[in-house]
Amino acid sequence: MEVELSAPNGVKWTQPLGLFINNEFVKSSNDGKIASINPATEEEICSVHAASADDVDKAVKAARKALKDPSWKSLSGTERGALMRKLADLVSKNAETIATIECLDNGKPYQTALTENVPEFVNVLNYYGGYADKNFGQVMDVGPGKFAYTVKEPLGVCGQIIPWNYPLDMAAWKLGPALCCGNTVVLKLAEQTPLSVLYVATLVKEAGFPPGVINIINGFGREAGAALVQHPGVDKIAFTGSTATGKEIMKMASATMKNITLETGGKSPLIVFDDADLDLAAEWAHIGIMSNQGQICTATSRILVQQGVYDAFVQKFKAAVENVSVVGDPFHETTFQGPQVTRAQYERVLGYIKAGREEGATVLMGGEPAPQNGKGFFIKPTVFTDVKTDMTIYKEEIFGPCVAIASFKTEEEAIHMANDTTYGLGAALFTRNLTRAHGVAREIEAGMVWINSSNDSDYRIPFGGVKQSGIGRELGEAGLNAYCNIKSIHVNMTAK
Ligand code: ADP
Repeated sequence: MEVELSAPNGVKWTQPLGLFINNEFVKSSNDGKIASINPATEEEICSVHAASADDVDKAVKAARKALKDPSWKSLSGTERGALMRKLADLVSKNAETIATIECLDNGKPYQTALTENVPEFVNVLNYYGGYADKNFGQVMDVGPGKFAYTVKEPLGVCGQIIPWNYPLDMAAWKLGPALCCGNTVVLKLAEQTPLSVLYVATLVKEAGFPPGVINIINGFGREAGAALVQHPGVDKIAFTGSTATGKEIMKMASATMKNITLETGGKSPLIVFDDADLDLAAEWAHIGIMSNQGQICTATSRILVQQGVYDAFVQKFKAAVENVSVVGDPFHETTFQGPQVTRAQYERVLGYIKAGREEGATVLMGGEPAPQNGKGFFIKPTVFTDVKTDMTIYKEEIFGPCVAIASFKTEEEAIHMANDTTYGLGAALFTRNLTRAHGVAREIEAGMVWINSSNDSDYRIPFGGVKQSGIGRELGEAGLNAYCNIKSIHVNMTAK
């Protein structure tokens, strides 16, 4: 159920391989396994247990029992918050190990995992731990005969399904608000990247959470994920992943009318107006598409540039990508971009690059694989210019280090182009004109707009999409709404 592992940076650890149910690691009931592959070397790291529908049932039953158990139900918000902060502390103490696992399993640069992803887990748990004793209902005085008040109650058992692009961040975004509000959870990890969060599971018991409050399972989407979504003992499904899977989940969850939160795909625009600071725009445009190997749901993957500054911007952007996007060994300190997460993703991205070429876009740079010593799912940062709005690379989410640059004439046209998509997750715009900045921000159909930056999301600020990019919000105070019921209690003051 565990294996001793070591990484090229010298870190050694005991990797759990089981399903974490009731504070113990257990085997899968049908002995199902999933191999985890190092995307930088294409070698198998280890094989983890894959949950069957029976295992999902066990995890849900554990969570249901824990929900009513006084060891969790009777805790005050302050006590729940303390447990959450203890888990955050333990994760912080194990930062090097967890960042190493993430680098090996996901292909993220080690430095990014250490300085961004592990701290995000810690910050989100601490942030929502702080809310646990500050999240109250209201008193409503409606006249002399009646007053009413609301209480916030946990939803119950929360099934949470996360993707492979940010395993630690996604786990924290799901666990934080759910635990804060007194729910219990069954968290299903992405089958491609289970190792870092399984390691975090080893710290749950030590932090003092009662058995069954946090259950963490690995398994395939169609098997374990679908079983979780369909389980009648689950009250809520929170999902982050592709729009196609989000739609399937919505359908399945409707059978028992589960509360749902979905955060799905995007094709977020970044608009550069002719009065923008072009150096700033180029720098953020690079961050907005090339970070995390381009595997970001809010990636600003369409850059729309006003005609007068098109050539100047393209030059500066090319220089920014050349200077910063060093592709290579994710354990190497200077590496900005590691491999794509899996062979399937690698091939998918290369397929889009091929389509871009065939449809007549210009390859300004990149456009091909970048193997290291003949191995790994590495792709050169790729920039397409002269992209037309009917091209596949302009319309579809690529989820890789590949961007489409198109031009526009007027502000009106920019807004039209930005909104001409079924998605509505993020958007960025660059201008020095204050009125235009706030005016355009309001016109854009998206859950988040960045003015003069891109993708600088923050756990204290709500995150989520409109249109086919999702339902509901995570993070910030708004994130709590996704995890509690409001019960109204009416008091008749005329009763004698
Ligand atoms: P991606 O295309 O990014 O791999 P998916 O949306 O397919 O994204 O996967 C995101 C998460 O959803 C993963 O944890 C995956 O196992 C899970 N998943 C995939 N298909 C289903 C499904 N039919 N039901 C429930 N969960 C699913």
